[in-house]
Amino acid sequence: MPSRYDATRADVAALLADEPGYRVNQVWDALNALRTPSEMTMLPVALRATLDDALPLALDAVTERTSDGGDTVKWLWRLHDGALVETVLMHYADRSTVCVSTQAGCAMGCGFCATGQAGFDRNLSAGEIVEQVVHAARAAKPTRRLGNVVFMGMGEPLANYDRVWAAVRRLHDDLGLSARHLTLSTVGIVPGIKRLAAEDLPVNLAVSLHAANDELRDELVPINRRYPLSALVAACEEYLRAKNRRLSFEWALIAGVNDRDTDARELAEIARSLRAHVNLIPLNPTTDYDTPGSTPQRVREFRDLLRTLGANATVRQNRGTSIDAACGQLRATAVELS
Ligand code: SAH
Ligand code: SF4
Repeated sequence: MPSRYDATRADVAALLADEPGYRVNQVWDALNALRTPSEMTMLPVALRATLDDALPLALDAVTERTSDGGDTVKWLWRLHDGALVETVLMHYADRSTVCVSTQAGCAMGCGFCATGQAGFDRNLSAGEIVEQVVHAARAAKPTRRLGNVVFMGMGEPLANYDRVWAAVRRLHDDLGLSARHLTLSTVGIVPGIKRLAAEDLPVNLAVSLHAANDELRDELVPINRRYPLSALVAACEEYLRAKNRRLSFEWALIAGVNDRDTDARELAEIARSLRAHVNLIPLNPTTDYDTPGSTPQRVREFRDLLRTLGANATVRQNRGTSIDAACGQLRATAVELS
């Protein structure tokens, strides 16, 4: 049997074949309303128990850690085959944002990223992705509403396109999240960006740029050798034309590597031409990458230079560094278990 959020409506109908017809809608709607079988009080108790067995949860919590005074929560999950992934929930004044993983590990090999350093394990199923959102939305209640879902956890979403898109559809069509509250982040898989441009849901797109010339980008983001900047920029233009949504660029500032004035000039040119918003992230420390992030002063200078050059830029608030929950720190190894 598929996991609770991998089960389709038809799977649920098959399970309820011996029940009155209206049960299918009841159960399907209750699942989409984030209820567990034991909370489906409109069902006979025996049926709740049957559903609980027949629709097992995909995520088994190994640890739950918090930081920032409880405002950042990170879960480490074990999946049915032992694969490990992490999810991060960030609370703000009146809403929360969940950062979900799309793969256990990542094959893209960006050297500054803890997920990339650990290598690739496997793709997550759509249900494994959706269930991260369900869990976070339940945890955010009752004080906050889950506002945004960002596909910025472990893995490269566009390298697991079909399952990620199935998760997007489920979140949008059945759980009621609007496309403008869903953001996919990609390292720059050009065919994936083109496919996204042809989809009928205008989700937000974030591109992890980190370098605006091919020589440096080949080094920082190895997939650039396959999809160089000219192709990436053309795909971004196609996305903009199709969706008319603001694009954003992620830029992890690494001291002396991509925080020079020349880097700002190259970046500003691309950002201006695509009217993209630049999110600057001071590089977070990871075990296998020695170069430190830019100093706070250099981060401000870089941001100001971008603005002077006519590009839109902000510095992303760092969350969860003390529990390795910040951008690029998700690794989900046994270290977490101690
Ligand atoms: N694979 C996708 C989705 C993961 S998002 C992507 O790369 O876009 C994770 C974000 O954190 C990406 O923008 C990534 O480039 C960034 N990142 C990776 N390692 C980082 C680090 N050590 N410090 C800050 N940001 C980092
Ligand atoms: Fe993968 Fe993104 Fe990390 Fe690169 S930055 S290794 S693409 S998760």
